[in-house]
Amino acid sequence: MNNMMNNELRAPYDVVIVGSGYSGTMVAVHLARAQRGLRVALIDRSKTFGRGVAYGTTDPKHLLNVPADQMGAFPDDIGHFYRWLKAHSANLEAAAIHELRPDAFIPRLVFGDYIQDLLREARALPGTLDIIRDEIVDLTPREGGSFQLIGKSGSKLEAAQVVLALGNFPPGEAEQKTKGDWFMNNPYAAEVHAKLAEPGDILIIGTGLTSLDLLLTLDKTKREGKIHLLSRRGLFPQPHKEAASYPAFLDPDNLPKTARALCRRVAQELRQANAQGIDWRPVLDSLRPLNQAIWRNFNPTEQRRFLRHLGALWDTHRHRCAPEIMAVKNRLQAEGRLVCHQGYVKGYEPMGGQVEVTYRPRGTTQENKLRVRHVLSCTGPQSDYRKLNDPLVQQLLIRDLLAADPLRIGAYTAEGGYVCNREGQVIRGLYTLGPTQKGRLYESVAVPELRGQAADLAAHLLNVIARKDQSSADGNARSLSDLTSEIDARIADHTRLLTTTDVVDSGRLCSQFATLSARRTPNGERPA
Ligand SMILES: Cc1cc2nc3c(=O)[nH]c(=O)nc-3n(C[C@H](O)[C@H](O)[C@H](O)COP(=O)(O)OP(=O)(O)OC[C@H]3O[C@@H](n4cnc5c(N)ncnc54)[C@H](O)[C@@H]3O)c2cc1C
Repeated sequence: MNNMMNNELRAPYDVVIVGSGYSGTMVAVHLARAQRGLRVALIDRSKTFGRGVAYGTTDPKHLLNVPADQMGAFPDDIGHFYRWLKAHSANLEAAAIHELRPDAFIPRLVFGDYIQDLLREARALPGTLDIIRDEIVDLTPREGGSFQLIGKSGSKLEAAQVVLALGNFPPGEAEQKTKGDWFMNNPYAAEVHAKLAEPGDILIIGTGLTSLDLLLTLDKTKREGKIHLLSRRGLFPQPHKEAASYPAFLDPDNLPKTARALCRRVAQELRQANAQGIDWRPVLDSLRPLNQAIWRNFNPTEQRRFLRHLGALWDTHRHRCAPEIMAVKNRLQAEGRLVCHQGYVKGYEPMGGQVEVTYRPRGTTQENKLRVRHVLSCTGPQSDYRKLNDPLVQQLLIRDLLAADPLRIGAYTAEGGYVCNREGQVIRGLYTLGPTQKGRLYESVAVPELRGQAADLAAHLLNVIARKDQSSADGNARSLSDLTSEIDARIADHTRLLTTTDVVDSGRLCSQFATLSARRTPNGERPA
């Protein structure tokens, strides 16, 4: 690994990728596998390249939420991870997994091993794939269309094309500044885990997948004191359950235009499935190949409506968890070590070594109080980029090389992963993938979506580079619109290839959720 130690401008790279989580790493892997002799740099501020936040955990209790045989890193070979596991039993043994099944939920750290292995293989191929540890804090356009990237160390790089694979940002980062040490907002930091394990009651705000992860860690480490979990609706991710697949029931050429229409249609299908004794999960999963199309078929008002009324319900049913994880949560509750609350935080009052949290229970006007030692915000990533303290994002916003998307759930992006400015114009040579694209695609977070994005973006970059080479050879440059049409065609092709477990979107959930929520059990789970 290289550290950017000196301040000279390095020889230009064809592509510089900022962020080496799954998304950035897989773009690098695809570029290297193409063997075109490119100069590529993969940069990350953390020391564990290829893992990112999700697969950087060292706790083998933290499991994937997608079965092993569906987690392949390549869109045209989703069984690749499972085959890799069979050939690397030592990695499984190291994580105390002694039996491998296609439907197993494997520790996330083993998936990180897999991506690191792909990166190692890619680096052994001809061409240059530098990995550089630094935080990029600024990016400026240069004459001739290239970019200069500036590292926190003061180092400089030049790149013809830049990929921003920045991932998710911590929840409510700005809020942290206004509170004391008792308030924490980074659920992945080891020092946060250590503080939560100290004797005394604690409060975790949010009941999503990350909170469940924490419960698995605290189950082992927290010996004294209760864990309080508080969220507005008290919805937990639903556990996976094996079920046969369900046929597609929406017409791709006539998708619902409103959240309400979607709800109605999905509710109708759920009722029919239920009458035949079919579980709700495959019905929801059958929507996946069309999810992005449904989202994009909504106008901004309908997208907002969906987010406001159905977002939480969709997320907890679409992004499910391994059943073993829900079992731990239920056990902790039964043992009295975990107490779950529904409501809204009204305020905090530090009192000596503790803090008094006032919250309003959902559906009431009363105020309840909890006295705890630490509070951790686990409310999901901050996705309104205007509120982030991230130095690179702030600089990009100032330079109009990045803009918040109209829904404030990511960056303003265009087809093909182009980053857009405030006016929605694409910035040539600047791309992104992953959670930054949530506004345009809604579900742009999990590997089944990101593997397609990484392959498509790498193919596009190779095309641009080939065209540039060609145009400098014959002076005949290609227009952006030609390239964009090519990307569209590739994406359409890719969408056709996707299996039912492969895509993401949000629209149809509405109806299902409406029906399902009426039948929710007191602890927030859907009945089997
Ligand atoms: C806890 C957790 C569990 C998950 N489990 C699953 C799962 O089981 N299955 C699934 O499909 N998906 C899962 N996901 C979704 C997950 O987000 C994606 O699978 C994927 O890991 C996202 O990768 P990414 O590269 O886009 O982002 P990240 O993994 O967040 O990586 C972004 C990287 O960019 C770096 N970076 C950011 N800014 C800079 C900068 N300025 N300079 C240098 N480096 C920078 C960061 O250090 C980081 O390493 C999970 C997510 C989380 C958070």
